[in-house]
Amino acid sequence: VSGEANVSGEANVSGEVRVSAKATTFTESVIRDMTRLALAHGAVNLAQGFPDFSCPPELKEAAKAAIDADVNQYAITWGAAEFRVAIAAKVGRTYPGWSVDPDTEICVTCGSTEAMIATMLALVDPGDEVVMFEPFYENYGPDTILSGARPRLVRLHPPDWSIDPDELRAAVSDRTRAIILNTPHNPTGKVLRRDELDLVAELCQRHDVLVFTDEIYEHIHYLGPGGHIPPATVPGLEDRTVTINALSKTYAVTGWRVGWTIAPPAYTAAIRKVHDFLTVGAAAPLQAGGVAAMNLPAAYYGALAEEYRARRDLLCGALAETGFTFREPDGAYYVMCDTRAVDPVGDDVALARRLVTDIGVATVPGSSFFADPADGRHIIRFGFPKKLSTLRSAADRLTRLAPS
Ligand code: PLP
Repeated sequence: VSGEANVSGEANVSGEVRVSAKATTFTESVIRDMTRLALAHGAVNLAQGFPDFSCPPELKEAAKAAIDADVNQYAITWGAAEFRVAIAAKVGRTYPGWSVDPDTEICVTCGSTEAMIATMLALVDPGDEVVMFEPFYENYGPDTILSGARPRLVRLHPPDWSIDPDELRAAVSDRTRAIILNTPHNPTGKVLRRDELDLVAELCQRHDVLVFTDEIYEHIHYLGPGGHIPPATVPGLEDRTVTINALSKTYAVTGWRVGWTIAPPAYTAAIRKVHDFLTVGAAAPLQAGGVAAMNLPAAYYGALAEEYRARRDLLCGALAETGFTFREPDGAYYVMCDTRAVDPVGDDVALARRLVTDIGVATVPGSSFFADPADGRHIIRFGFPKKLSTLRSAADRLTRLAPS
């Protein structure tokens, strides 16, 4: 992820065939790798962040009805009008005062994954720096490299994953094109506070920097109403923020691959152009499911957060018995554990493999969230987007780890 070390003519060769320098600069997703291992061993998969419970029935019915009504051809490339109108209306209901124009400020994408890479390719140039926090969600580094830019990492410091304001100030300069935010944060569960966002706003204004904010866990936090602050609503950031979101997590449809960007018109126009050439558009009948999602009542989100709180408490209770140490997450659905008491050697990959093969629980090795794998060697990440019964089964298995 350093963006430099492996970019050379030599590294451009993989076995017999030549592949691009960019593609050799990052490795295959460790998270997807752990999912395959979990499947092979029948382990409870607490690695990749996808729910094992159903989405709201309203979404399925709307998508099925759309297929039956022959909504089966390309949608408008930047998203069906009805879906964009519904997204803008839901944003306005959720955050009074935040007004989004569905005609010019939204681009519907294939999940937030495409939203982020389309944003990068549209707004970042080779040679630019993109600031991101470490530990990071594993896509941001490769996205930056694919757009020709250089990642610039800023640490979140355990145990509460705090930002050191001086470190952030030192990382942002006139070379910086964008700061990537992710709140609530995968993998740490950190939710950005007002004072932290104010600092980001101050730096962005000083150095003319954009914010790309991944808010896929917007409704999954344990702080109560008002706990999540969208960066686009922070004074000074309104005109320089691309908000990235998706149906994936909030509505338990990670396989639908439907997401979107919200950004000022000039940025949206560029994102739409790139998006058109990347994918043409997101699945048309599933965008009808998206309209149903946006129209769910406000009570849905309160209940969602409460269900996730019960899942978090169950998993954290079980983890507390194991000897792992951790901070309960404020948001998202992951727990970062310090493994020193269980694995003094500090081989996170071996420990994660052992947890699959000997205990039957799949996790993600901490090294996959750091540029230097050594920084994650005492960490593994558990996820809890699962039925309580699944988490109970994982908890039972984890008792085998408990210190005697
Ligand atoms: N962003 C973050 C922070 C995530 O944790 C994930 C999935 O785990 C994604 C994006 C992927 O989102 P999508 O499935 O909408 O592409």
